[in-house]
Amino acid sequence: MLATLRSIAESVSRQANLDSALVCFVQMVKDAMQTQCCSIYFADYSQDNFVLMATEGLNPDAVGKFRIGFTEGLVGLVAQREEPINIAFAKSHPRFKLSPEVNEEGYNAFLSVPVVHQKKVLGVIVVQQKMARVFSQDEESFLITLSAQLASQLAHAEIKEVLRQDESSHQTSVLKGVSSAPGIGIGQAFVLLPKLDFKSIELLKDSNIVEQRRLFTQAVAATRKEFNTLSMTLSDSIPLEALAVFDVYQQLLDAKSLGHNVEIQLQEGWCAKSALKIVIERLISQFNAMQDPYIKERAVDVKDIGLRVLHHLVNTEHAVKNYPPNTILIANTLTPAMLAEVPKGRLTGVVSVNGSANSHASILTRAMGIPAIWGIEDLPLLQFDSKPMILDAFAGRLYISPSQMLIDEYTELQHQDNLLNNRFLAEQDYESITLDGEHVSLLLNAGLELNTDQSSAHICDGVGLYRTEAWFMQKGQFPSQLEQENWYREVLTSYYPNPVVMRTLDIGGDKVLDYFNITEENPFLGWRGIRISLDHPELFLDQLKAMLKANMGLGNLKIMLPMISGTEEVDESLALIEQAYFELSEKYPEQQIERPDIGIMLEVPSSVFMLPEWSKKVDFCSVGSNDLTQYLLAVDRANARVAELFNPYHPGVLRVLNKIARECEQYELPFSLCGELGGDPEGAILLIAMGYRRLSMNLSSLNKVKWVLRRLSVSDMEQLLTDCLAQSTAKQVLRLTRNFMLEHDLGDLFYTPK
Ligand code: PEP
Ligand code: MG
Repeated sequence: MLATLRSIAESVSRQANLDSALVCFVQMVKDAMQTQCCSIYFADYSQDNFVLMATEGLNPDAVGKFRIGFTEGLVGLVAQREEPINIAFAKSHPRFKLSPEVNEEGYNAFLSVPVVHQKKVLGVIVVQQKMARVFSQDEESFLITLSAQLASQLAHAEIKEVLRQDESSHQTSVLKGVSSAPGIGIGQAFVLLPKLDFKSIELLKDSNIVEQRRLFTQAVAATRKEFNTLSMTLSDSIPLEALAVFDVYQQLLDAKSLGHNVEIQLQEGWCAKSALKIVIERLISQFNAMQDPYIKERAVDVKDIGLRVLHHLVNTEHAVKNYPPNTILIANTLTPAMLAEVPKGRLTGVVSVNGSANSHASILTRAMGIPAIWGIEDLPLLQFDSKPMILDAFAGRLYISPSQMLIDEYTELQHQDNLLNNRFLAEQDYESITLDGEHVSLLLNAGLELNTDQSSAHICDGVGLYRTEAWFMQKGQFPSQLEQENWYREVLTSYYPNPVVMRTLDIGGDKVLDYFNITEENPFLGWRGIRISLDHPELFLDQLKAMLKANMGLGNLKIMLPMISGTEEVDESLALIEQAYFELSEKYPEQQIERPDIGIMLEVPSSVFMLPEWSKKVDFCSVGSNDLTQYLLAVDRANARVAELFNPYHPGVLRVLNKIARECEQYELPFSLCGELGGDPEGAILLIAMGYRRLSMNLSSLNKVKWVLRRLSVSDMEQLLTDCLAQSTAKQVLRLTRNFMLEHDLGDLFYTPK
């Protein structure tokens, strides 16, 4: 059964377009289940009905024409219930609807399952048979498994289809993602190629065989040249027998071997890349199926050769080019380094296929004020390249090849958005004080963008979170103590005399160092933050000393420890800080080394309950609401699939944040918050109502939050908070906060275009 399932999924994925994929699907399912009829319906949400997309057994003329309402017939019932229906006499079911145009009168047995992707019913699969019988449990499970396996493939195919239609009709297509940094970007797509992999190659046909053959031959020639150079370079350092492997590679590249097989595929109309993919994948599975371990191992060589040829094929097609002036950067999984590559001023929007709004790359886009959306599943990236686009990161939409009318409309909306931002900017030098006179310190989250933006220093009350890991990430090895000291000194000087809270290294999770391998099943629950620092005291002490030395003569440093979960970690960290202090004092007796305030991040749930003890040990704490939300709700903050569950407005999270404020007040521990929630106006007002008077946020949020709190009084916010804490869902909370903003004439903030 497993083999059949796999072979159906593989065959479907090899089809060039959605129509042929569905035809292949119904045929194979009908054969595998030995029934007389298999059909697939797709949901058309614009018309609230299902359309027959492919069938083996019903009237073929009805394909693409026959429609049945969402609430009609057995097909509608399967979708409504979102569960299978398995009946012997379909016609006797009260929901059966006779549809003469599909010719199904002859069938009695009916088994149907919904195709659901991310809670959305995409379609319905139906299997029918003349003989009246209930399908077996095995058959039902088979169809359910198939439907689940194919759901994402079909969702993917749906997107591909959108792109195909766009190509042929020159119409605008729209794709949905999750907004992670608001704004509008109008520009041209620049696709950052992922590490090449045959999986990411789409199967496409191309009728120009001569050109495709030329491309392939050229790529093979380039690969041969590469092997020649490689074997020459290595000839001095490796034995002759080992060099023989290059001869084997050259043979595999021969026209008789790879070339011959690729030629067959080219003749069948596949483009060069697709032909190569088909041949290499077939060869790999043939080698893998061998018993002999030596021959089996050759699959690796085949893959290596295939990828090298592919690399040359893609490179000739996708020659190195410059980032367009209005780059909309598209990548599979965006990283901070990718963002840094785009020349200043050219980046107008960002789209990442994987990841979510809470990943660090996403936080960086917010900090840079670049509109971004995340989580457009499984996109065939290359097909996007160079296309004109509009990124509506308010609504999480990406328009491909927009019409001039849409461009004009969005240009106007962009203008409106700029006007609003100018209103925030106009008040940036004003005091951040509420209508009833409460001062709220607004601090900056910095570090991810590497370069210290001196111009921001005067508009904030200091830095509430300086993430030091970005420096480590862009290096090829751990930076020296002196190097670190220079960086830290630059930052401390930029914000002097305001305080700078420097966080010690918080790598792990989604922040990896190329030169420090951490491979884990659950990186967010693994070796991260303070755990690494304590396991490597030599690295930790280096960083601490660099910070303490950088602070000499300035005195505006505070040190913060990330990911603290237990008392031992607090104690060991404090002991190492003391050690660093004493060693430095000894080394520089004539210098005044200061003991900075030491704080901890409250981001692991256990820390919330340890405040009675820890408040006696440390000088301050800061809530990391990003991780605290992640760990309270058990939702991986970087996983697009569960992004909708990551919600700091969850009443459970709000109640914990409120508890922290109460406890810190009780134990007289200064507290602040430095997660993304504080930079969201609605989050900020709830936090102020809880008693938070220090909020640290991205530069792009700072002016906005200041503008909002200057128009509200704490007493009103407190009433709102009481109501919010009594809610049971995040949706209810957000409804209340939204209404509150509207009632206080702050509706402009939620100006969401379209
Ligand atoms: C947090 O977890 O809220 C936080 C501020 O730290 P980071 O986002 O860097 O993990
Ligand atoms: Mg954190």
